[in-house]
Amino acid sequence: MQPILVTGGAGFLGSHLCDRLVERGHDVICVDNFFTGRKENIAHLMGNPQFEVIRHDIVQPLTVEVSQIFNLACPASPVAYQYNPIKTIKTSSVGMVNMLGLAKRCRARVLQASTSEIYGDPKIHPQREDDWGNVNPIGPRSCYDEGKRIAESLCVNYSHAHGVETRIIRIFNTYGPRMDPDDGRVISNFITQALRGEPLTVYGDGSQTRSFCFVDDLIEGMLRLMAHPDNEIGPVNVGNPAEMTMLELAEAIIGIIGSSSHVDFQPLPKDDPTRRCPDISKAQALLNWEPLVDLKTGLAKTIDYYREELRRAGQI
Ligand code: NAD
Ligand code: UDP
Repeated sequence: MQPILVTGGAGFLGSHLCDRLVERGHDVICVDNFFTGRKENIAHLMGNPQFEVIRHDIVQPLTVEVSQIFNLACPASPVAYQYNPIKTIKTSSVGMVNMLGLAKRCRARVLQASTSEIYGDPKIHPQREDDWGNVNPIGPRSCYDEGKRIAESLCVNYSHAHGVETRIIRIFNTYGPRMDPDDGRVISNFITQALRGEPLTVYGDGSQTRSFCFVDDLIEGMLRLMAHPDNEIGPVNVGNPAEMTMLELAEAIIGIIGSSSHVDFQPLPKDDPTRRCPDISKAQALLNWEPLVDLKTGLAKTIDYYREELRRAGQI
């Protein structure tokens, strides 16, 4: 059996995926350009004979022999993906072509890490896979949203034209240990702010909703989708349908930590989706998957992680 390739393997989700694949006995090649990935996420795997790392940018062609490709390479935080929007588009378009070309030559199956951003600011709620979405093609989020939409189209077209086996997972907001404390996403921001006793920066009036999935649940859904035998399965939503407002999230985090922080309302970023919640009936029916970790349990584990990180950095 050839190794499994994980692009973006030094990132938040990628590093957890590498762990699970190694645990299951696979040989894993992690490819990462370390834009938002961190060596410490994979430090514990270094020296393991089942694991190797290549510093590489998927916008450039890659020649390796692999049996499966999990394509996670792409910054996920709005702050990170808007830092160099053209690079973000190239990663999801040129990078995707490179990974599909590699898959075609190796006869490898590809799983593309797509996103709930495919639905943009959704008109249908909760979001179902047959919703085509409501995306601003020229807005500040378009480098990410449209990039991911091109990537989905490339997967479908390589599958039809060249017989490449592709799977598309539409990931809804996922959190857990190893999310970069400074990456600007809401859970990492709120927890680190509450631990430092700083105000929690709620954007807008905090009434916008998200539905948060713990990383272990997400990785399980991802592995089940990759293993699914049906090439026509189409995109599958994976996320936790427990929907909440950002104000409720801030209050929950302050409560669990017992922090003295208060909430500081800041301007809402342009095109910030007003609501987001996955319809997971397809994943339940076809993958026999549903999330098992509730928000309180997942947040407690994540808070423990950040507390340790901030202590080590001398920040608390
Ligand atoms: P992350 O930023 O922690 O990880 C992304 C990884 O990809 C990083 O290690 C980064 O260095 C690497 N990378 C970026 N561009 C690259 C390139 N051109 N070549 C090689 N490596 C590159 O983000 P994450 O949360 O782990 O997200 C992983 C994937 O899942 C992304 O594709 C993201 O779009 C998708 N996703 C994540 C979420 C979420 O809530 N975490 C939601 C929807 C989709
Ligand atoms: N958000 C917030 N405060 C922050 C960071 C984010 O209120 O410090 C809000 C943001 O406006 C959005 C939600 O939290 O409505 C989720 O943002 P995130 O960047 O985590 O991911 P998104 O789902 O927008 O891609």
